[in-house]
Amino acid sequence: MPDGPVTPTSLEGVTSLYRRFRPGRFCELRGQEHVVRALRGAVANARVSHAYLFSGPRGTGKTTTARILAKSLNCESPVDGDACNVCASCVAITRGSSLDVIELDAASNNGVDDVRDIVAGAWHGTPGSWKVYIVDEVHQLSKAASAALLKTLEEPPAHVVFVLATTDPHKVLPTIRSRTQHLEFRLFPAETLASLLKDVSDAANLAADDATVEAAVRLGRGSARDALSALDQLIATGAVAETRPTFDDLLEGIVRSDAVATLTALATLVGEGWDPEQLAESLAGEVRQVFLLQVAPRVADAVDADRARLSDWGERLGLARTVRVLETVGRALREMKSAPDKVVILEVALVRLVRPDLDATYEALEERLGRLERGVRAAPSPPLPPVTARRPIGQSSAPAPETSVSVPSEDSPASAAASPLDPAPAGDAEGDLTLADVRARFAERVVPRTSRAAQLILRSARVESVEGLVLTIAVASEEMRQNTEMITQGLRGALEHEFKRGFTLHWTVDASLVAATLTPRSAPAPLRDEEVHDTGDDDGEVVVVDSAAEHLITEMFPGAEEVS
Ligand SMILES: [Zn+2]
Repeated sequence: MPDGPVTPTSLEGVTSLYRRFRPGRFCELRGQEHVVRALRGAVANARVSHAYLFSGPRGTGKTTTARILAKSLNCESPVDGDACNVCASCVAITRGSSLDVIELDAASNNGVDDVRDIVAGAWHGTPGSWKVYIVDEVHQLSKAASAALLKTLEEPPAHVVFVLATTDPHKVLPTIRSRTQHLEFRLFPAETLASLLKDVSDAANLAADDATVEAAVRLGRGSARDALSALDQLIATGAVAETRPTFDDLLEGIVRSDAVATLTALATLVGEGWDPEQLAESLAGEVRQVFLLQVAPRVADAVDADRARLSDWGERLGLARTVRVLETVGRALREMKSAPDKVVILEVALVRLVRPDLDATYEALEERLGRLERGVRAAPSPPLPPVTARRPIGQSSAPAPETSVSVPSEDSPASAAASPLDPAPAGDAEGDLTLADVRARFAERVVPRTSRAAQLILRSARVESVEGLVLTIAVASEEMRQNTEMITQGLRGALEHEFKRGFTLHWTVDASLVAATLTPRSAPAPLRDEEVHDTGDDDGEVVVVDSAAEHLITEMFPGAEEVS
């Protein structure tokens, strides 16, 4: 490093534009005017807080601003609360050699000892100067470390300022948050990034043309760091190297329930050199925005350029599937932490997502039904154009059902819906019920009155015993049993309708039920068959493939075929 004054624009040997052109003074900061105003004013009026919480997405200038605050406080010739950026103190802070600025990245040093070191040092300051402690990703501190930090924040030493930076302020302990002045950093608008990139390009003699700047702005997605690193890459390689993976092909595969397309898209991304864990994290981040844009657009922090695209994915995925993607990828991420072959975890998760028939959870069953139903509705119906979107199910297919089957809507309990079946035979509201009698009426009259989702579970269920008002029902798998809570109310209503009495339900699992009740799709008669696939889980979990569901669906929608 050369001697003499060093400004951020002449740091030799540093190639990254982001580091070379890091703003060194408040007046050089862009896009966070509200933050700059607050901090500059505090320094100028000697009203600096002992603790600040800087929150905002990555690359929006939190750490840079913290360093500028440290400079301004210790500058030998400050101007209106701003640093001169040329005095010995400013230069030392720029170089990272100042003893007055201590940075801790809580993502890598999150233990109580790290914080104790900081706290101990806080009491031994250079006379006359401010010590500034910058704790990055403070939400990642361990519990003990947070407690140690809190103690110091309760009685901060004079001339010490803590700047706690986080991308996730909600994960910071409320007791810590309440002792800080909270300043929120925002993503940069496209025009701010564009002017920043143009200026940097001019200053560094990069001669980036408008198209390059525009591409870098787009790739930066509101982050100055990402935009500058995109500009770096664009100029170095001449190619548009994505600063983060593009999931459009992958999401397209999910939307179309096309396992091959989904896995191909994943393989392409892995082939581009993305780390599987990083991919899963980015995918989760993107789908989280898709989700937020559907349920709470104001909370979504996607940049304008992304909003339309992500909203479009939201529409195409639908809320239920968006949530499933989030949950699936989140689960995969957790599993990946300890798995040797991470990409396999992601592949399996995506296949399960795309082919819910390999997944026996309640949500998967629900989605499978919804998809089939949509497929039936959207089935081609030549030669006339569709008159109404909601044609009676089965109209376009032969043979027509003998009775028009009414499908209870998901939000109204099936028991309350009109039943196509005859009313229950009268006269047995009192008296003892035999197990055989209950079993028969359960299968023939009660189950058909329940919701479609309930039927997926109950079709393979069997009444084990009737003891007074306690009915014990066995279902085919533990997953199904875990989902019975959601169907209990509807089932009790259907039981009451049939038996004129209120039952208490007990659930058990009997794996042998699977073989006894599944029916192959093509067989007209209830031939017995089984289709059990091992999913290859380490725990040897066996997942029931959906013959029962398919059977049910072909029954409900004659002629239906899964359309993807
Ligand atoms: Zn200075």
